[in-house]
Amino acid sequence: PPDVEQLGRATWTFLHTTAAYYPDKPTPTQRANMLMLLRSLPIVYPCTWCATDFGEEIEKSKPDVSSRVALSRWLCEQHNTVNEKLGKEKFDCAKTDERWKDGPAD
Ligand code: FAD
Repeated sequence: PPDVEQLGRATWTFLHTTAAYYPDKPTPTQRANMLMLLRSLPIVYPCTWCATDFGEEIEKSKPDVSSRVALSRWLCEQHNTVNEKLGKEKFDCAKTDERWKDGPAD
């Protein structure tokens, strides 16, 4: 089975970084592709219970692929939902760019 923690860190890094560099004004094709990427996760993600819960969450709160800022915020909120579930600290979504775009890598 996959290392759920390492897989999670790698996946969040990929998703938040991708959102941080997503266009301010995405074309319909760019939106459709991002939506497909997010909607694929509940199907392909190899931590099956993570995938099932994430699938339910994105039904409750539809992915907002309308802009870079909107997508970054939506993803931050999704990550916070998982943080809460796991008893981790919530992340301040105002700091998303600092962490994933402008700031130093960790
Ligand atoms: P991570 O949560 O991996 O975070 C990595 C870094 O992201 C942090 O160091 C911080 O700098 C930054 N960060 C934290 N919160 C936010 C935020 N809200 N917005 C932006 N940046 C942030 N694990 C389970 O055990 N059970 C699950 O059900 C589960 N579901 C998951 C679902 C998905 C879709 C994903 C991608 C992962 C899931 N995981 C799950 C893994 C889990 O979320 C963590 O990745 C893992 O526990 C490692 O945690 P971590 O403390 O190293 O930091």
